[in-house]
Amino acid sequence: MDKFCESCAVPLSAPDFKGPAEQYCKYCTDEKGNLQPQEVILGGITQWLKSWQPGITPEQAKARAEHYMQAMPAWAND
Ligand SMILES: [Zn+2]
Repeated sequence: MDKFCESCAVPLSAPDFKGPAEQYCKYCTDEKGNLQPQEVILGGITQWLKSWQPGITPEQAKARAEHYMQAMPAWAND
């Protein structure tokens, strides 16, 4: 069964995404496997949304990124 990054949901079975941490991809951690600050992840997801949704405004992209992250175990606030 595939494991997914608990911060951004990419599949960890893909060699491109596997990093030093067990539960996070390499883009969500530093070189020691520590989770990046929330603002860094938010910026990355915002860029990713803008890359495949042409015409989206920066404000819309950020709002969607924040919504997306609320579904992630690493960032869900309960
Ligand atoms: Zn990730």
